[in-house]
Amino acid sequence: MPGPNTNSQAAFFDNATVDELPETTRQLVERRNRSLGSASRLLYAAPLDVVRGSGTRLYDADGIEFLDAGDNVPTVGHGHPRVVDAIATRAARGTSNVHYLDRDMLDYTENLLGTMPRGLANVLYAASGSEANDLAVRIARNATGSRGVIVTRNAYHGATAETAAFSPSLGSDVAPWVRIVDAPTGDGSALATEVASAAAELADTEFGFAAFIADSVFASDGIFPGAPDEPNFLTAVLEAVHAAGGLYIADEVQSGFGRVGTGLLGFSHLDAAGDPFVPDIVTLGESIANGLPLAAVITRRDLVDDFARRDHYVAPNSSNSVSMAAAQAVLDIVRDENLVENSVAIGAYLAAGLAMLAEFHDAIGQVRHTGLLVGVDIMRNGAPDDALALALVTELRNRRVLVGMCGPLGVTLTVRPALTFSAADADLLLTELDSALRATRAI
Ligand code: PMP
Repeated sequence: MPGPNTNSQAAFFDNATVDELPETTRQLVERRNRSLGSASRLLYAAPLDVVRGSGTRLYDADGIEFLDAGDNVPTVGHGHPRVVDAIATRAARGTSNVHYLDRDMLDYTENLLGTMPRGLANVLYAASGSEANDLAVRIARNATGSRGVIVTRNAYHGATAETAAFSPSLGSDVAPWVRIVDAPTGDGSALATEVASAAAELADTEFGFAAFIADSVFASDGIFPGAPDEPNFLTAVLEAVHAAGGLYIADEVQSGFGRVGTGLLGFSHLDAAGDPFVPDIVTLGESIANGLPLAAVITRRDLVDDFARRDHYVAPNSSNSVSMAAAQAVLDIVRDENLVENSVAIGAYLAAGLAMLAEFHDAIGQVRHTGLLVGVDIMRNGAPDDALALALVTELRNRRVLVGMCGPLGVTLTVRPALTFSAADADLLLTELDSALRATRAI
């Protein structure tokens, strides 16, 4: 299903329009309102009644096909047969967890560690990206004896009480132990200085400075991945964090598993410009198991040992073998189907197509992309325009192409499809975007 957009400007359904929906949809929405209530929001002005997915496509109850270009969670596509098979095989054998000696878990864990930078040697499993980030911060607080956390201005790191307290994109006040820095909207060189001064500010409070946590591609801030041929600005940030006595947590919940193109991790494309980037803690989720609940905190052995000496982590349901079988299949499929290479190739193809569209449509502003993570700023008369961005997302949905929105102003269209996205999928997206731009021009 289309991924959750954590911005208040997202293309959510407006309940005030429920009576305008076709009868069957209206009944479903009303059932949903009665049982799920108002906190669980539906995407799109015309909500989707999805019954099935296959590859990059979703199908509604009437059999209508949608191109899913907005959801990063099914990394290798909806209903991939190898994932389905892995899940079914393991489920038939029952499930165990981290408190038993599970050979499949050991195999997977070793495989996962094999994809990590040197030094990140231990994995703690969780069931969601939120839990992973929550645990990562616990580990950082344990190591530093401090509480303060630094995040970017429109960051989203989770739904637990603690992670929500350092997720400014949710719109509520962040906790007093949180400091906010600007996302790297330019060349990224200002970020290290900003982090250093935020850390110094925290050091002067009762909280002190424990960790800087950032999505490696700054997706909810509007997608600012940096360029592989420019200096890796995150290295300077890492140095600033360490100089201030804190830990760097790379939130790879959205960017992990090959999406960025040059490697499995969201920061790997920056390695090309210099030494490998090695954060203190990496968190993984969402895309790790193609949509099944699994997440991971990967960090140094000394940090885990230090944590285990003073704290306990007991979470048997956070490491279930069925999710892990899906995760193993994801790793295998990304390798066997060359999906990292596909990310690079199709991402570049899409970006080139968008550049061509931009020649005819003033509404297309800056396009930022790395692999199959693409952000397109939507403009009117030279200024970012959230109403036009929303109209485009709605028009595309009506043309059976699903994309998301991100950024603090809700002016950036997000394309983050399954990594199996093909050139034909990209062509369809570009054709429909062209038509949607023409259709919305009058608005
Ligand atoms: N961090 C980032 C960067 C995310 O995008 C998300 C979810 N969209 C989370 C954390 C939270 O993950 P989950 O929804 O699995 O709890």
